[in-house]
Amino acid sequence: RAKAEGKDTYRYFEASMGAEARDRRVMEHELRQAIARNEFRLVYQPQKEISSGRMVGFEALIRWRHPQRGDVSPATFIPVAEDSGVIIQIGEWVLATACAEAARWKNPLTVAVNVSAVQLHNPNFSRKVHEVLLGSGLSPGRLELEITETALVKDMPRALTTLRQVKALGVRVAMDDFGTGYSSLSNLRAFPFDKIKIDGSFIKSVDSNGQVAAIVRAVLGLGRGLGLPVLAEGVETLGELKFLDAEACEIGQGYYLGRPSPIENFSELTGVTAPTTEDHAPIKQRGG
Ligand code: C2E
Ligand code: MG
Ligand code: MG
Ligand code: MG
Repeated sequence: RAKAEGKDTYRYFEASMGAEARDRRVMEHELRQAIARNEFRLVYQPQKEISSGRMVGFEALIRWRHPQRGDVSPATFIPVAEDSGVIIQIGEWVLATACAEAARWKNPLTVAVNVSAVQLHNPNFSRKVHEVLLGSGLSPGRLELEITETALVKDMPRALTTLRQVKALGVRVAMDDFGTGYSSLSNLRAFPFDKIKIDGSFIKSVDSNGQVAAIVRAVLGLGRGLGLPVLAEGVETLGELKFLDAEACEIGQGYYLGRPSPIENFSELTGVTAPTTEDHAPIKQRGG
């Protein structure tokens, strides 16, 4: 009896695995079409100098509006795009779009672009970055690539070569989600990062939780020792911001400082205004 139950459980498990695999295949297929169908757009989240409140840059974050499913979170579709390789095309679209948009901003603020492990390990990556910079006319010093430490470990020599190549173009690199990966300390020394982004999970309640505060202070000390500015992600409250200011954390990003929004919402900084219907209606009609 126990055996039979086990067998049924297994069959059920197998069936559900099958369904999940099918869902992923469908999503992969939809992701391949999404660029041509104009379903992606970028939103931008402010990055501010904490001591002054001055805006220093924006992180570009991809959004996917699926015609039937509605908005799909990048946390859901980026892993599927990575497994299927379509992240290469999506990542190129993100890079080209972010650089072209930033090149038109009134103020020469930084644009930070997330780079997945699959992109980083593609031998054409640095050449692509170069092409996009030339094509957009964006000054390389205004582009910052955000790379997680987990993205480095697949092939460290390859990752190091690529980081050196993009740095030689004048592009900066930030370690994203710091503290959530592993072997962080040696990676910071071995790779030519320009900035540390402390993961938002360490900022939550940093002003009221002594253990979290100790970790954040240690990362800030590490940044100072290595000469790297530290950006705190996920700043949600004034209390968290005050703690970070008192601890001399250089840069902050999070809902308290500004939510990710279409670039038109920052028009006083960027000069970018919403497209008029006249500009876009005829194109949309033709495109379907
Ligand atoms: P990330 O690069 O660490 O981006 C920060 C995420 O935290 C964003 O989620 C942002 O909306 C969210 N966030 C910002 N402030 C706060 C806050 O105060 N509280 C909380 N709880 N969350 C906050 P999002 O846009 O959903 O993106 C999730 C992840 O998906 C990103 O994490 C990044 O790893 C990936 N991603 C997003 N856009 C791209 C992209 O264009 N390319 C690649 N390869 N990955 C991307
Ligand atoms: Mg990021
Ligand atoms: Mg992050
Ligand atoms: Mg993240």
